Amino acid sequence: MIYYKTREEIELIRESAQIVSKALGMLATEIKPGVTSLYLDQLAESFIRDHGGEPGFLGYNGFPNSLCTSVNEQVVHGIPNDKPLLEGDIISIDCGVKKNGFFGDHAYTFTVGEVAPEVLKLLKVTKESLYLGIEQIVKGNRIGDISFAIQYHTEKKNGYGVVRELVGHGVGKNLHESPELPNYGKRGRGPVIKEGLVLAIEPMINLGTHKVKQLSDGWTIVTQDGRPSAHFEHNVAVVDGKPEILSTFEFIEEALEVVQY
Ligand code: MG
Ligand code: MG
Repeated sequence: MIYYKTREEIELIRESAQIVSKALGMLATEIKPGVTSLYLDQLAESFIRDHGGEPGFLGYNGFPNSLCTSVNEQVVHGIPNDKPLLEGDIISIDCGVKKNGFFGDHAYTFTVGEVAPEVLKLLKVTKESLYLGIEQIVKGNRIGDISFAIQYHTEKKNGYGVVRELVGHGVGKNLHESPELPNYGKRGRGPVIKEGLVLAIEPMINLGTHKVKQLSDGWTIVTQDGRPSAHFEHNVAVVDGKPEILSTFEFIEEALEVVQY
């Protein structure tokens, strides 16, 4: 069942999402060769608690940390560890916050030093697909319209692999709510978008094959061909029939000064 939010509830989701946005902005200046994902996780957990939130992922289905940190061929759900990041890596950081009973959940893929041009292009195109998907989050459209927009830009136009096994979702009192929001699909299919819907839209796009597998840690999803994968996520509410982005990348972009992608 899809739970449509009131304006008041949307504001609470925004508050949680903004803490995530600021946490990611804070991390942006810390990501460099030699830093470990476990260190980033500890910084994020302190930041979230200092802002009156709880880490949304810590303990969720037994997940051990506050961030999902997925490096290079890792798609999502990577567990922070003590391995230093290397020049040329990319790291997708997904973060959740719960405050006042509502979740925020979004993600950004960062570069570590200089990254190969083909990988930078993957990041650029994946981020573009996020915003093309958001344009479709309009009252009266269907979920499939969002899915199609993402798949068309990434797979059809740029030849990338769209992960099938993992999807976006509704978000609110629960981290994962109905409806599912696949990053592939057909226009005009799926649930109709109505006022008060709040979605976590999150393209997960691979440079090579769309096929993925799970590592033996029970969490980490990696590409089958070992090529890199990108992940960007926003929380978006339907307000006055139009998409309103509750999270923001502005803190990241300010921190990075130059937006490469
Ligand atoms: Mg997420
Ligand atoms: Mg999500």
